[in-house]
This record gives sequence, structure tokens and C-alpha cells, in this order.
Amino acid sequence: MKGQILLISGPSGCGKSTLLSRLFKEEKGLYFSISSTTRAIRDGEIDGVHYHFISKEEFEDGIKKDEFLEWAQVHKNYYGTSLKPVKEQLERGNIVVFDIDVQGFAIAREKFKSEITSVFVTTTNKKELKKRLEKRNTDSPETIENRLMNAVGEMEHILEYDYFLINDNIEKSYRGLKSIVRAMRLKSTNINLRETIDNWIDC
Ligand code: ADP
Ligand code: 5GP
Repeated sequence: MKGQILLISGPSGCGKSTLLSRLFKEEKGLYFSISSTTRAIRDGEIDGVHYHFISKEEFEDGIKKDEFLEWAQVHKNYYGTSLKPVKEQLERGNIVVFDIDVQGFAIAREKFKSEITSVFVTTTNKKELKKRLEKRNTDSPETIENRLMNAVGEMEHILEYDYFLINDNIEKSYRGLKSIVRAMRLKSTNINLRETIDNWIDC
């Protein structure tokens, strides 16, 4: 069986991590692709769980060694997805979850077109995004401004994604995300056609 990729993008602060952490608690067979980043670790984040927090030099060395499936500079920091663990999980038939930006999506889509189901998540409006970033209290006012500016550009890419979720209500958007995962599990491409037909005839 071949695995699949669930790829989520959306403005920083819209609620992607909140939705995903609930998904991981409730769904089996999902593997989170832990990105590497050069940004500073936030309160509550764990190295090797939320990200691999590495130096700029280590990141650039990884680029030289072609270790990244994709990488991008987002909000003035490097972010990248390591290829090796993703391949291993796909070979095991798992769903690999990416939380990456629109630039990363464009590259990942070239390499794993048939494996990716993509979802763009956002807030009802920019004002609400600002409120959430301020409430989260992890970024300086300057960083928040930078993230808001970036968000406007990211919104231009909505139509490139398979699904669109407005996270105005966590219960509602979580139900939407869960339906997408269920639909992924029901894809006909998941089955081994020969085995399915042989078993069907034998019984
Ligand atoms: P992201 O991973 O997209 O950067 P987070 O998951 O860290 O965003 O969420 C940013 C903030 O918004 C957090 O404080 C989170 O608790 C809050 N949040 C997430 N979803 C909602 C929602 N539907 N309504 C209100 N606040 C939310
Ligand atoms: P944050 O700093 O809020 O955790 O993430 C900032 C942005 O970087 C988000 O849009 C997130 O989706 C994106 N991001 C996280 N990991 C990766 C990655 O490996 N590659 C790319 N291209 N973007 C990433």
C-alpha cells in the first residue's frame, strides 16, 4: 500500500497547529513531518516534536547536501521538510501531514502530485488573524506585522488547494478536516486492485 500526504497551509496564527494536534490525538496512522527551522523556539514548543530547531549554518549545509524535499524562507527564517523520513512513512502506507507555506506547497506538488491532498486554512478576516496572533503572545509586534503582511500574499493562492477551511469555529473546522482525512482513506488508489479482485472472486 502506498501512503499519502495531507498538506496544510494558511496564514500563521489561523489555527493550523490547534487543528492538527487534535487530529493526531483522534486519528491513527498519521505521521507529522517535523520541519527544520532556523526561527527561535517559542514557549511551549519542544525541539524534535514541533520542529527541529537548527542554526542557519546547519540549514544551509542541509540545502547543499540536498536533504530537503522543499525549503523556503518564510518570515525571514528558513523552514524545510526533510525528504528521508517522509519517504519512509509513505512506503509504510501512512498519511504524512505537512504544515508548510504556499512556496513549499508549490515545490512539494511538483514532486508528489498524486500523493498530496491539500487544504488551505484561514480566519474569517485579517482583523481576526491579528487578534489571534496577539492573543497567542509568542511574537513581537514587528513579527506580527510581518506575518500579517505575508498572510495577504498567501491568500492569493487559495485556489491552488483542493480544500478551503475558514477556521471561525474550531468544532466546525475540525469536523471539516476530519472529513477530508476520511475521504483520503477511502480513495480507490489506496487499494491493491489485483488482490481486491482475487479476494472478491474467491469468496
Ligand atoms: P497556526 O498553527 O496556524 O500558526 P495556532 O494553532 O497556533 O495557529 O493558533 C493561533 C491562536 O489562535 C492560538 O492561540 C489558538 O488557541 C487560537 N485559535 C485557533 N483556532 C481558533 C478558533 N477557531 N477560534 C479562536 N481562536 C482560535
Ligand atoms: P511558524 O513560525 O508560525 O511555526 O510557521 C510559519 C510558517 O512557516 C507557516 O506558514 C508554516 O506553515 C510554514 N512552515 C512550517 N514548516 C515549513 C516547512 O518545512 N517548509 C515550508 N515551506 N514552510 C513551512
